[in-house]
Amino acid sequence: SAGRVVVIGGGFGGATAAKYIKRRNPAIEVTLVEPSKTYYTCPFSNLYLGGLRTFEQQGHGFAELRALGVNVIHDHASGVDAGARKVSLAAGRVLSYDKLLLSPGIDFRWNALEGYDEAASALAPHAWKAGKQSVLLRKQLEAMPDGGTFLMAAPANPFRCPPGPYERVSMVAHYLKRNKPKSKILILDSKDAFSKQGLFQAGWERFYGDLIEWVPLAKDGKVVRVDAKQRSVETEFGHIHTADVLNIIPPQKAGAIAEQAGVTNQSGWVPVNHQTFESELIAGIYVVGDATVAAPMPKSGFSANAQAKVAAAAIVNALAGKPPAQASFANTCYSLIAPDYGISVAHLYKLKDGKLAEASGGVSPKEADDNFRKLEAEYGAAWYSAIAFDTWG
Ligand code: FAD
Repeated sequence: SAGRVVVIGGGFGGATAAKYIKRRNPAIEVTLVEPSKTYYTCPFSNLYLGGLRTFEQQGHGFAELRALGVNVIHDHASGVDAGARKVSLAAGRVLSYDKLLLSPGIDFRWNALEGYDEAASALAPHAWKAGKQSVLLRKQLEAMPDGGTFLMAAPANPFRCPPGPYERVSMVAHYLKRNKPKSKILILDSKDAFSKQGLFQAGWERFYGDLIEWVPLAKDGKVVRVDAKQRSVETEFGHIHTADVLNIIPPQKAGAIAEQAGVTNQSGWVPVNHQTFESELIAGIYVVGDATVAAPMPKSGFSANAQAKVAAAAIVNALAGKPPAQASFANTCYSLIAPDYGISVAHLYKLKDGKLAEASGGVSPKEADDNFRKLEAEYGAAWYSAIAFDTWG
């Protein structure tokens, strides 16, 4: 055969890679392993929290990948034997591969915030993987009394989706302003600056007045302990804050299967060759998306999709005995502050001495009229449709 490729993870990186390998060379046997029959995206899950989209709009299936000839198996990969080039699945099957691609996303560092483990996340959701957690957080918002406090603990860098916490707060504020206007939002942050900060803060002031309070690291914003039952948190300097809805976004690391496969380093993330996204530690294993060390590219769905195309081309070439092509990358992250008010950050990346570096780009202008912001909100929605179609459609 032209070769066997196993892809683990059917999210932004994995589904894109499986599709693009199969498209480039249909003779390659491509197997995609993903436990969920429907993948729910994190992108736009904040809009669901704000009441602007339904939960169902976030779901994508795998019928189109199957139609292309990708063998989709709904199971959990429980082990990788890199020496034997085999992947074992939870239900007992073993898959052999010539090349393996991992896009397992993130896992949480449970108890890095004392008391915040998986059980605690059923009371104080992270909603940083979409699906049940998003629904839980939305239900808690609906049950929150008018005059209550929504408290978010935001993590230090690096983490999935740098502007995500601040878009979430914007969308929660939109919901509260309409439905529970006496309420407050408190963000306790483990850092002193965040993505698109100036634009977010100007937007918050304009649309939500003093509804949102942001407490940076330097002002004792770092949460160190969580009591999910009491819905309270303790900061570094011993201050206790209580909330009606507690949204904890904990520190993160590469999805567990990456560590199991032996491709993570001490940071908990996966170092890769930026030209091919092949692991720096084990040849023949490619890793894309949030799990990788790819700074200055952010951990975004857009980045995962772009990296997957680079890795797919490298794998197709390697199986044909050809060198990898020249890689180039782009990313845009749109955020919604209010329904017709969007902002963005966009960059092109190129390789400099073999490492990813910013080539050009920037954030939306500070001085822009309402029509400009409305257009950016529309571009954001168009981006979502386009990338969902490119990945699963
Ligand atoms: P994922 O999409 O998480 O996919 C990983 C998949 O691997 C999962 O389906 C999982 O089930 C599967 N998996 C894991 N382990 C195994 C295993 N052992 N066996 C089988 N399958 C496994 N990005 C943007 O570009 N734009 C946005 O507007 C945006 N908004 C966001 C908003 C929020 C609130 C959040 C939290 C994130 C947002 N992101 C956004 C970021 C985006 O969700 C991630 O960067 C993206 O999902 C990364 O893709 P991935 O393939 O690395 O991981």
